[in-house]
Amino acid sequence: MTTALRAQPGIMDIALYQGGASKIVGQTDPLKLSSNENPFGSSPVVAEAIREAATALHRYPSTDHTALRAAIADVHGLDAERIICGVGSDEVLTLLAMAFAGPGDEVLYTEHGFSLYRIFALSAGATPVVAPERDRRVDVDALIERITPATRLIYIANPGNPTGTALDLPELTRLADAVPQDCLLVLDGAYAEFYDSYDGGAALVTARENVVMTRTFSKLYGLGGLRVGWGYATQHVIDVLNRIRGPFNMSVLALAGATAAMKDRGFVEMCLRENAQQRARLIGGLRQLGIACDESHANFVMARFADETTALAADAHLKAAGILVRLVKGYGFPEALRITVGSAVDVTRVLEALASFQEAS
Ligand SMILES: *Cc1c(COP(=O)(O)O)cnc(C)c1O
Repeated sequence: MTTALRAQPGIMDIALYQGGASKIVGQTDPLKLSSNENPFGSSPVVAEAIREAATALHRYPSTDHTALRAAIADVHGLDAERIICGVGSDEVLTLLAMAFAGPGDEVLYTEHGFSLYRIFALSAGATPVVAPERDRRVDVDALIERITPATRLIYIANPGNPTGTALDLPELTRLADAVPQDCLLVLDGAYAEFYDSYDGGAALVTARENVVMTRTFSKLYGLGGLRVGWGYATQHVIDVLNRIRGPFNMSVLALAGATAAMKDRGFVEMCLRENAQQRARLIGGLRQLGIACDESHANFVMARFADETTALAADAHLKAAGILVRLVKGYGFPEALRITVGSAVDVTRVLEALASFQEAS
């Protein structure tokens, strides 16, 4: 390197995050099932709230997000004082690493965990430590074995991405019991709503000092483009995060849109119902075609093929049919494709394309 400007240690080890593909060469309107977006878009009340808020863009936004936190607290039965809002849950997850981990500290996550966890750890100057999974599931014992006195933060996505598998409450509790008091257990609940009767870990957060839950508007609420997420933790953790968060991190539009979205429970219930139905159809259809997949507790399914060559061929076949899914080699699954659960019509299209792939191969 010729420049005298040196980034902090760890930063140049970060590879840029790769998002899900959104274009197919030569096709104008692909069916995008590569980023776990909501097939129904977002609630119409969101655009209405944003249009209204757009009349006051010369005003700085709220720094304390009172209205949004109140709406979240009301729906989830939580203490609004213990909620923090961020530019996507990404921001809350990264603030946690910035605030609680640094050089010499370890940040623990699992083998097939979300690719951003490594980036958060390295950004903070901490050392990433990876625990193996077992049969595409988080292995609580493997995690516990890798906790050292240097471990400051453990990130678990529950349900997991890209596996869609989940730990149940007894397993989560067993893990939480084993985490030392000076280490934070972060339960990333990006897909928590899709996991029946799971509270995202909220009860664990309420009962313990060192458990944090994060949630997002990007998946169920269909607002990935608006960038809103939130976290729930003890007053102490929230107070720490608020000191390093940008005071105007949430725009006027993001606050208005997310608050309206949280209040529209009818839209959310419709999306959850559809997702459960179409997810079951997609899993059943894949298995009928001889394509392996685990039960999923999220809004996507991970389809496993014989090997990487077959997965790439299936991906190419889907692309030719105008369908974009996600290659998950970067998550340690070269033989698999992650497919977002779409609408009934979308699922039919995917299953038909894969049926013709299986026939041809
Ligand atoms: C999508 C996703 C997120 C959410 O990111 P946002 O910043 O809220 O859009 C967080 N964790 C996992 C595992 C995800 O898949």
